[in-house]
Amino acid sequence: MSSVNEIRAAFLDFYAREGHQVVPSSPLVPRNDPTLLFTNAGMVQFKNVFTGVEKRPYSTATTAQKCVRAGGKHNDLENVGYTARHHTFFEMMGNFSFGDYFKERAIDMAWRLTTGVFGLPKDKLLVTVYHTDDEAFNLWKKIAGLPDHKIIRIATSDNFWQMGDTGPCGPCSEIFIDQGEALQGGPPGSPDEDGDRFLEFWNLVFMQYEQIEPGNRVDLPRPSIDTGMGLERMAAIMQGVHSNYDTDLFRGLIRASIEAIGVDAEGDRRPSHRVIADHLRASSFLVADGVLPSNEGRGYVLRRIMRRAMRHAELLGAREPVMYKLVPTLIREMGAAYPELVQAEPLITETLRLEETRFRKTLVRGLQILDEESSRLSKGDTLSGEVAFKLHDTFGFPLDLTQDALRNRGIAVDTAGFETAMERQRADARKNWSGSGDAAAETVWFSIRDKVPATEFLGYDTETAEGVVL
Ligand code: ATP
Ligand code: MG
Ligand code: MG
Ligand code: MG
Repeated sequence: MSSVNEIRAAFLDFYAREGHQVVPSSPLVPRNDPTLLFTNAGMVQFKNVFTGVEKRPYSTATTAQKCVRAGGKHNDLENVGYTARHHTFFEMMGNFSFGDYFKERAIDMAWRLTTGVFGLPKDKLLVTVYHTDDEAFNLWKKIAGLPDHKIIRIATSDNFWQMGDTGPCGPCSEIFIDQGEALQGGPPGSPDEDGDRFLEFWNLVFMQYEQIEPGNRVDLPRPSIDTGMGLERMAAIMQGVHSNYDTDLFRGLIRASIEAIGVDAEGDRRPSHRVIADHLRASSFLVADGVLPSNEGRGYVLRRIMRRAMRHAELLGAREPVMYKLVPTLIREMGAAYPELVQAEPLITETLRLEETRFRKTLVRGLQILDEESSRLSKGDTLSGEVAFKLHDTFGFPLDLTQDALRNRGIAVDTAGFETAMERQRADARKNWSGSGDAAAETVWFSIRDKVPATEFLGYDTETAEGVVL
């Protein structure tokens, strides 16, 4: 029992047997929350249940929730392909108590699942608690029998969760596994905690307070539980590999990418295949949930994700669109758990094919210009904002794509300069529209005409997520 599909089923089965309602994943576009770009945690669909605004016919639930962290408060886009544990799209397994059980049962079940069902070795596990949370500290001691030095007190916001400036909040407790001395990195709370040796895989949130206003926090009459376990991370642990990208699901996707492009995943090519596999999942699931590539809001995040992957395909030597060719493999791996993927297959395929066909028209020339402009730069230098803006405006390179392209060489981009150039263009556009009468209309016409070749590739924008602030 250790494939991604088996682990997902085992998690849900365990909590179902513990009396939890199995609730389907909610869509990636949150229904009632315009402040949130994408669903980024299991609790999102239950926000109003936690606050008591909404009632459900059950008081405990379990889910496998589709999540995207590629914008807003949680943005893991830059990490993808470079860390072993981050994706833009991932599945968060969770169990929830809406004023039902609290810390003791939550810890007890998490420990039984981790060490019993999943069979993780007790002596390799350690946990964190919020520094003032003696209750959680003592429960870990009692239930798991962990020695004091493996229950690490953390004073930062990493171990204190808040829904927002007001509302439910409380301490959290995270479970880590020590993957061995061969890997770099220190235990949680140490200066080098971001290394690969100690891997966080589960976060248990104890909602026990309500923040009424700044400085005024009261006890919730019926505290709640919200947990999140990264399915891909648990799969890596159980399959004995040190990277999510070496698990069964990702190996399948990367194999498809290797076949479609015709080059292996050795050395420098490895991160590119990983980015392609990751971004294929994010793109496909977003399209299945109704997001289409566009120039603003959610659609622009999707476009950025797609184009990043497409640049990596070009880097690997692809000379024609490839992303859409990987869709059948994704559906074979994940279609059974997510029927919406199967249903949306034609739309996903067509959207990827079209976006890549269009982007490829400007991609190669844009990369040439980027090469020329950066040829004299070396590690520690900065590419001018003007050039980054030209790549954006004329060649459809999102800023983060340009940054990603220069990252290996240690070259940064002048983002302030980029913003200035962007703002100048906006101001020009406004100025051109401000007059009335023929002269003004003519200016507008000429200015549009001048820009037509530049903007042609953006010609099939779709209206999505208007008004979303990135
Ligand atoms: P990290 O510190 O590794 O970035 P996190 O503390 O931001 O993770 P949480 O917000 O606590 O993550 O989310 C709960 C769980 O979801 C994590 O313990 C992890 O297993 C998983 N998770 C979080 N972000 C990602 C991601 N980008 N890709 C894959 N799994 C993730
Ligand atoms: Mg994180
Ligand atoms: Mg963390
Ligand atoms: Mg965490």
